[in-house]
Amino acid sequence: MTKTRIGQCIYCRARPTPSDPLSDEHIFPFGIYGKQQLGKASCKTCRDITSDFEGKVQQDDMKNLRSVIDFPTRHLKRKKELKLPHEIVTKSGEVKVIEVPSKHAPAIMVLSVFKAPAHLSNEAYEEGIEMTGYFMNTSTKYPGTIAQDHNATEVAIYSLRWPEAWGRMFAKIAYAFAVKEYGLSRFKEEDVYVLNAILGKTNDIGKWVGCDRERVFGDEFDDQAVGLWIVEDNELHAVIKLFAWLNSVPEYHVRIGKLS
Ligand SMILES: [Zn+2]
Repeated sequence: MTKTRIGQCIYCRARPTPSDPLSDEHIFPFGIYGKQQLGKASCKTCRDITSDFEGKVQQDDMKNLRSVIDFPTRHLKRKKELKLPHEIVTKSGEVKVIEVPSKHAPAIMVLSVFKAPAHLSNEAYEEGIEMTGYFMNTSTKYPGTIAQDHNATEVAIYSLRWPEAWGRMFAKIAYAFAVKEYGLSRFKEEDVYVLNAILGKTNDIGKWVGCDRERVFGDEFDDQAVGLWIVEDNELHAVIKLFAWLNSVPEYHVRIGKLS
């Protein structure tokens, strides 16, 4: 674990107070192997906002994957007893939701594929973020007995229910990583394009976050990869890859804001 001390909320710029000494902020969420932290970098109010969308990604959309393969968790007991909802269609055509113990569930990695950031593609944009597809990788360990056990013809898992939460998480990762690299003083609040979307003040995350056709990374030997680069007008961009050792996973492009 590496930690870079900031001493100020990176989102609202609040300073530590006796009632809120500020908390450390993971650049990548702890639950997906995040190892880098910004020390004393998030106030309570902002932490509640970022925990909410990171929770939707990790505890909902990645629940299946995280519980079946060994991800870090702060709730080991809960994990052991975890049951995962699967929607099935039985042979008689009935649709129902069953709970499958995590040890019997397949490890399915599903990552969203988004349109390119609207601000880059110059396409018409209204709000939110648009998924154009998904990446899926299934574990070969899966015993494959759910269908048999439940007399089902189809089994579906729940995933990618929160595309906007994913988009906001990538924006947060990119911004926090950029703060580590350049220091908070290089970012004026009004120049951070993604800030209002991270904090849920605007619903324009698809403007700044998306997937590109062009790929930046090859096979990496790490859990995650981030690349930063500066384009004209001191505008800072990031590309993020989760599960970076896998070649074909989507990369996420974030147009962070301007450096000063
Ligand atoms: Zn704050």
